[in-house]
Amino acid sequence: MRRARRSYPLACALAALLFYLFALVAPFIEIRAYGRFALAKLDTGPEQFMVQGFGLAGALVFIVTLVAPALKLGLLTITLAGLRRLPPGLLKLSFRIYQVLAPWAMIDVYLLGFLVAYTKLTAYAQVHLDTALYALIGCMLCMAAADSSVDAEQVWRTLDGRSTRTPAPADGMPQGCHECGYLNHVGYDHGPGPLHCQRCGGALHARKRDSYSRAWSFLLAALAMYLPANIYPFMVLTSLSHATPYTIIGGIIELFQSGLWPLALLVFFASITIPLVKILLLGYMLITAQLGSTAHLHFRCKAYRFIDFIGRWSMIDVFMVSILIALMRFGEFASVQAARGAVCFAAVVVLTIFAVEAFDPRLMWDAEHALHE
Ligand SMILES: [Zn+2]
Repeated sequence: MRRARRSYPLACALAALLFYLFALVAPFIEIRAYGRFALAKLDTGPEQFMVQGFGLAGALVFIVTLVAPALKLGLLTITLAGLRRLPPGLLKLSFRIYQVLAPWAMIDVYLLGFLVAYTKLTAYAQVHLDTALYALIGCMLCMAAADSSVDAEQVWRTLDGRSTRTPAPADGMPQGCHECGYLNHVGYDHGPGPLHCQRCGGALHARKRDSYSRAWSFLLAALAMYLPANIYPFMVLTSLSHATPYTIIGGIIELFQSGLWPLALLVFFASITIPLVKILLLGYMLITAQLGSTAHLHFRCKAYRFIDFIGRWSMIDVFMVSILIALMRFGEFASVQAARGAVCFAAVVVLTIFAVEAFDPRLMWDAEHALHE
């Protein structure tokens, strides 16, 4: 019974990896319009971004749809398969990288972006969904099953049980590890130099370094990009020599007008609301923490976890553009060009994710401690 429970996440991870590898080589979508034919694979979108001169956006899409999922699934499979056989040091490293990469593997968000792109494609062309799409859906489901069934604490304990290090003395100051959750006890007489987690080897910080200045820089940069991301068109659709620029809001209005209001609401939340809410909430957290305020601490903590979780879903529009530029390549008959709004928007998403990552939520609780001293 225990064995069956242990092998379930491994089976899911392996299945997801196989689905993914299949999706890499198989065609994804084919479209037919004006007597012509276009076919896209997973990497066609990033490639077209590069061709059109938006290298950074291309690199971003390439990383979150190709590199991160492959690495994440590969490392998880290796860790779970080798849990009792491979050297624990190696497995600890691979499991740590898996945990860091996990939110950057955006197959689920990509599929939603595909759904939005699909509604636009059907207006101009005959769309044929190919095998890679189904494989990608299989990959997403198996990956979700693997992520939710893998017991990270259990994996760390198993690896810990196999390590031969001498346990650290249980006195000194307790300090939790960011990466594996292990409660280290840091002696008061530790020497100079950075401290490392006893269990996973990750760096230990009482507080993240330069948290305020780093979080503020990313946040202000994101804020500076937010306006151009919404004002500039993020793509230009040319149909029968007539060019229509699309802004983010324009795309949403069009979805509404076609009667696709659930999709319109989804894109509105993902593209307009989430980035703005993230910027405002994080700004509020930074200011209250720096002022030493103890108000609404529980709310602020929940809000932090919320914006940490929600950020990746803003990528829907970027993925949509990536799929449209990969397929709509019929010259003056029908074609889609990425525009600078898409790059500004991608920058907003990445900068806000970095800003949330840079902020140390423990800083909010320091005010509470200061109050009791
Ligand atoms: Zn650790």
